[in-house]
Amino acid sequence: MKLWEENIRRVVPYVPGDQPKGERLIKLNTNENPYPPAPGVARALAEMDTAQLRKYPDPGAFQLVRALAKRYGVGEDQVFVGVGSDDVLAMAFLTFFNSDKPVLFPDVTYSFYPVWASLFGIPYETPALDEDFFVRTGDYKKENGGVIFPNPNAPTGLYMPLDQVEEILRANRDVVVIVDEAYIDFAGPSALELISTYENLLVVQTFSKSRSMAGLRIGFAVGSPALIKALSDVKYSYNSYTMNLPSIVMGVEAVKDEAYFCETTKKIVATRERAKARLRELGFRFPDSRANFIFASHRWAPAQQLFEALKNEQIYVRYFHAPRLESSLRISIGTDEEMDALFHFLEEYLKGK
Ligand code: PMP
Repeated sequence: MKLWEENIRRVVPYVPGDQPKGERLIKLNTNENPYPPAPGVARALAEMDTAQLRKYPDPGAFQLVRALAKRYGVGEDQVFVGVGSDDVLAMAFLTFFNSDKPVLFPDVTYSFYPVWASLFGIPYETPALDEDFFVRTGDYKKENGGVIFPNPNAPTGLYMPLDQVEEILRANRDVVVIVDEAYIDFAGPSALELISTYENLLVVQTFSKSRSMAGLRIGFAVGSPALIKALSDVKYSYNSYTMNLPSIVMGVEAVKDEAYFCETTKKIVATRERAKARLRELGFRFPDSRANFIFASHRWAPAQQLFEALKNEQIYVRYFHAPRLESSLRISIGTDEEMDALFHFLEEYLKGK
């Protein structure tokens, strides 16, 4: 190894799902929303004054912060926005997990958490979910350097009721607790209800799923002014202009259209429930997802073979080569037509085996 190579920071990166190209493919592998963003988003893009792009955007993305503060009934000093929730979460790891004690998150969860922890040199422990993939709240009642978990969890889709979230918060008054609510709009009550009670609670959400805007990269955090100030200070020490102008403008439009948001989320939830019934008939088992995906294993067909067979048909789902995950496929909820194509293929495939 050359001397200069010895000083390189080596990391094992997070691996995002494939973004295959093609006209006819059915893409159910990255939990994207199958419906377009709110109509106002397209209008805002068409009407954008590109002369404005000459200038740097507002580093605080204030228009978007204001729209979100209004929508969620919190102060403008309680909202932080970033380039997708991945950016917000990475900043939050860097800002709040600054202790010698281990940060706690479940063994089966969003696989980016251990990557950020390693990148930033943060010690961590991963308490095991129970055999049905539920979080054991008791595991989060020991000394730690912070807590993070998604709700609903990924890739299981399981939703933790707010009384259990609060149980974890009550046991962790002296560290920051982050609830990653990427999929909350398909699930149940949000931990946003708890932020006025717990000043150490940070709730992170995204425009990538329920707002159909994964391509724009918008995420946000809501918490006490003290948490938001700390997060902003770290962000300004790293990159002040994270949010580009088109994202800010289109993000505001998306937040304004509550009716469209409700309509598309409702449609996805209805398709998810129909998909559960159909998958059960086809011999699949799965945790009772409250997200826009289902983490399903078949009674006898190996997941990896199913994954390959589906891919040959241009139907993309997600397969994880990891302990506790390798017997399941994570299937994002698409349109009813896309899901019907999936079920039709599975039915034929399983019949032929
Ligand atoms: N949290 C969880 C649990 C996720 O599954 C994802 C999507 N990969 C994210 C955060 C990040 O989403 P985004 O950066 O698109 O907001």
